[in-house]
Amino acid sequence: MNDRSADYIIRGGLVARGSGITREDIIVKDGKIRANDGRYREADAGRIIDASGVYVLPGIVDAHNHPVYADRIETFSMSAAFGGITTVIPFIANRRREGVEGTVSDMIREFQDEAAATSYLDYAIHAILLGDDDVDEQVPELMDMGVISFKMYMTYPRRGMMMPDERMLRAMELAAADGGIAMVHAENGYCIDYLVDRAIEAGNTGREHYAPSQPRILEIEAANRAATYAQVTGCPLYIVHLSAREMIGVLERFRGGDVRLFAETCPQYLDLTNKAMLDFGALAKIGPPLREREDNEAMWRGLSSHLIDTIASDFCGHKRSQKGSYDFEGEPDGEGSIFDATFGGNWAEQMLCVAYHEGVNKGRITLPRLVQVMCENPAKIFGLYPQKGSLDPGADADIALFDPAARHTLSAEAQHCVADFTMFEGKEVIGQPVLTMQRGEIIVENGVMHRPKGRANYLPGNRDLAAYAPAGYKVL
Ligand SMILES: [Zn+2]
Repeated sequence: MNDRSADYIIRGGLVARGSGITREDIIVKDGKIRANDGRYREADAGRIIDASGVYVLPGIVDAHNHPVYADRIETFSMSAAFGGITTVIPFIANRRREGVEGTVSDMIREFQDEAAATSYLDYAIHAILLGDDDVDEQVPELMDMGVISFKMYMTYPRRGMMMPDERMLRAMELAAADGGIAMVHAENGYCIDYLVDRAIEAGNTGREHYAPSQPRILEIEAANRAATYAQVTGCPLYIVHLSAREMIGVLERFRGGDVRLFAETCPQYLDLTNKAMLDFGALAKIGPPLREREDNEAMWRGLSSHLIDTIASDFCGHKRSQKGSYDFEGEPDGEGSIFDATFGGNWAEQMLCVAYHEGVNKGRITLPRLVQVMCENPAKIFGLYPQKGSLDPGADADIALFDPAARHTLSAEAQHCVADFTMFEGKEVIGQPVLTMQRGEIIVENGVMHRPKGRANYLPGNRDLAAYAPAGYKVL
């Protein structure tokens, strides 16, 4: 082979990194991005990809998803690839609540087998530590497997998911000692159960009673508590899916201390409000609940002011029929109790479009900041950078070409997952991914999947690189 032969030259695009936007050609050879030092000649390239008029972005790293329901890793990763995502980090938990024996590490080994056979995208893994997990045994075992991030629920005690505080402290201590990172779903589950009981007793089980049963103070309280535990144990902490505007104050308080505190929000908390719950009932049931317009704006300000570090999808992949499989009989306008409906939504494929349209097109954040929060920072926080999340020489050639002028309407029909509804149905946006490349292979181009499943690599988190300050990380 001629040393001057690139596999691809992506020519004439505007290349967006966290550090800024430049017009340059991107050279791809043997799965990696190569230095554009004049060595690679267009005449010898396998293919020239004309990127004039489009942005060249690092592939999106979606650090929050649950492909364990109707959509498993196969269809979830396919859908994600169409949305410009190239790396996914699913959450895996033990399944004793469903009567399936085995530890979380057993479940992760099973998931790795499934993903090796069926995933379209490279993946790392977060472990969920549930209340019945033996953290002393599991944390070291998981670390040895390259699983370095441990999510704990501060809510859902009656679903058998909540991690008691004293064991959360122990898990944080173990993770901190070994270069790991804790993650929390910050809501006070005891208070939620109390309020839900009172609502049910009063016969208030309609959709309008959902948000009042999960008030913002419970998110704020739990986040303060988790950040306090992080400070006590010295464990880096990542708070998932921020939704309430007061969470910015929590970040401001703890970023002044010794805590390495990272925060995520999601497209639903950036663009949807409780009106979606009132309009669509069970389909819009997520935890934390959709809140108000001022909360959306606070999330954007948190992103632009470098207090919120990432945007992720929290994809759950339920079908309509699974959201309300009680009196609703699959219909969200039925009369079942909202408290019996399933949690979760599915919009990984639409995430970049929503974030770009609402963020960049509307002037709330810059495109380089979008690249920081959707590509660089999730890779940095979870020990995958600079292999992932970067367009610099030596990085994996994981690339999304994005047409900023493409006007289109989001719909469940247009998504490639099994899940058959989205709260962004009918939303008009400008901007669309048009080509997704991973490790130098074109996976999706012009709406067509070009690669077979089962091509993914497992990405062990590098604990020496994890949890270092993300781009733009602000210490107050
Ligand atoms: Zn989640």
